[in-house]
Amino acid sequence: MSFVDLLYRWRINESKERIERKQDNEIYVTDLIYCPLKYRYQKMYKELSIVASVSPTTIMGELIHIGMEKLASDLLKGKNIMSEVEVERKINIDGKEYVIKGRADLIVDNNIIEIKSSRSDTNIPHEHHILQLRIYLWLTGCKRGLLLYITSNRIAEYEIIEPLSDGEISDLVRSITSGEPAPRYQWECSYCSYALICPKKRT
Ligand code: SF4
Repeated sequence: MSFVDLLYRWRINESKERIERKQDNEIYVTDLIYCPLKYRYQKMYKELSIVASVSPTTIMGELIHIGMEKLASDLLKGKNIMSEVEVERKINIDGKEYVIKGRADLIVDNNIIEIKSSRSDTNIPHEHHILQLRIYLWLTGCKRGLLLYITSNRIAEYEIIEPLSDGEISDLVRSITSGEPAPRYQWECSYCSYALICPKKRT
């Protein structure tokens, strides 16, 4: 038995399944918060996104999620607690129906919790994480969101209560269909799996 092999198979299979079951009118929450070209490239160059899923940083993040979700379930017995909750909501934009889909880390009563892990605590909470949680508030109708950061030098949480509006969601979807702005954030290209084939790569 090899644990490296177990981790590798787990990540590869999960990533493959997630990409293969995605319908043409489905947009994941993560598609909305990053560079819109990634949505396009994920369909064209599936293998590149699958390879990215086995990076040690990604695996460490997944393990922290699993641990935190299990701990919360143990410590918050008696509360209405759900982890890895699949959520979706339909929206009609310019005559076409889209399904916005996501998987919330934790929902406890009327609170939605997003767990973030990183080495550094510089500049937390990050703009794209706030955006992500605001999309989840729109998707779920939860009244309160918590961004929980677990970093090497700080554990901190931030309350977010304002959901995105239908208009803001529509603008994000339009940005996916137009492929602009690419990248959405200046720092993105340095961490992007598609940088090696992308004409819009900046850094
Ligand atoms: S390299 Fe930059 S512009 Fe190209 S897909 Fe990645 S993030 Fe977007």
